[in-house]
Amino acid sequence: MKVAVTAASGQLGTAIIYELRKRLGLKDIIGIARNPEKAEHNFIEIRKGDYNSKEDFLEALKDIDRLLIISSNDAPQKRIVQHRNIIEAAKECGVQKIVYTSIMGESHGNEFSPVVSSNRQTESDIIESGIDYSIGRNSLYIEPDLDYLENYIKEGKISNSAGEGKCNYTSRAELAYAYGRLLLSDSSNGKIFSLGGEAITQSQLADMLNMIHNTNLVYEEMSPEDYLNERKEALGEHLGTIIGGIYNGIRDGAFHFDSDFEEAAGRPHLSALEMVMEYSRLKS
Ligand code: NAP
Repeated sequence: MKVAVTAASGQLGTAIIYELRKRLGLKDIIGIARNPEKAEHNFIEIRKGDYNSKEDFLEALKDIDRLLIISSNDAPQKRIVQHRNIIEAAKECGVQKIVYTSIMGESHGNEFSPVVSSNRQTESDIIESGIDYSIGRNSLYIEPDLDYLENYIKEGKISNSAGEGKCNYTSRAELAYAYGRLLLSDSSNGKIFSLGGEAITQSQLADMLNMIHNTNLVYEEMSPEDYLNERKEALGEHLGTIIGGIYNGIRDGAFHFDSDFEEAAGRPHLSALEMVMEYSRLKS
């Protein structure tokens, strides 16, 4: 069986290929990247594939049996078209199974909803293609929050609009473990999995960071409007709206759910504390 992973230059793509290398021979794994030279660190064959080019994928998917599509990070309406390029090429090339990394969240109601909605459209497009599939709806990665540790320490606090909302944080490594299994097993066919770990609040995240880093961080709640404006000012309109919308979504419970991780991965998810500890270990 020959499998391919898109966005092989990215962090999730690299983590999934790392998991697949433990389970398949190197010759059976193909990475696809719009800039192939950026994916050479995977030590497997890399083929060119820009999501904007169906032609690229008609070439890249020629002898591929199973395909893992990592969701694009472009504007929502553009993503739908990009994902369709890949799905159509997969169908024409006779790919037997697609696994898609979708996203948790609400299709309506906050500034992140257009992104969620575009992912739901791709889910439907995959289902309607008639190709076997498994879909994972990823919860939020914990890493971007932990990347902010230096800023939190400078300010003495974590401040955002999540309030008392809980989030079933996950990590790229945990997701990669689950996706390796979803791609290779048939028992997951035709299913949509909600993928996340333990649900925690921002105050609990601050407590964990204090425990591991010997800090005295507190959590400070901001209003959704103030946080959105602050993020737009710091990150620009597009990214600021997405990040603001994500924390407003946490506040409203959009990332608090019953996880199917154990069914998808065949083992329990790491606890939130274990993920924070693992992140610190890798950084040190
Ligand atoms: P990442 O490290 O930023 O990687 C993004 C990947 O997408 C890169 O390989 C990039 O290629 C590729 N890409 C972008 N546009 C492309 C195009 N037109 N054609 C082909 N490849 C393209 O992000 P990540 O951590 O791997 O995350 C993967 C996806 O998860 C993101 O794309 C986004 O949809 C989503 N995401 C989820 C969360 C979450 O918390 N669940 C957070 C952030 C993002 P280059 O290397 O050439 O740029």
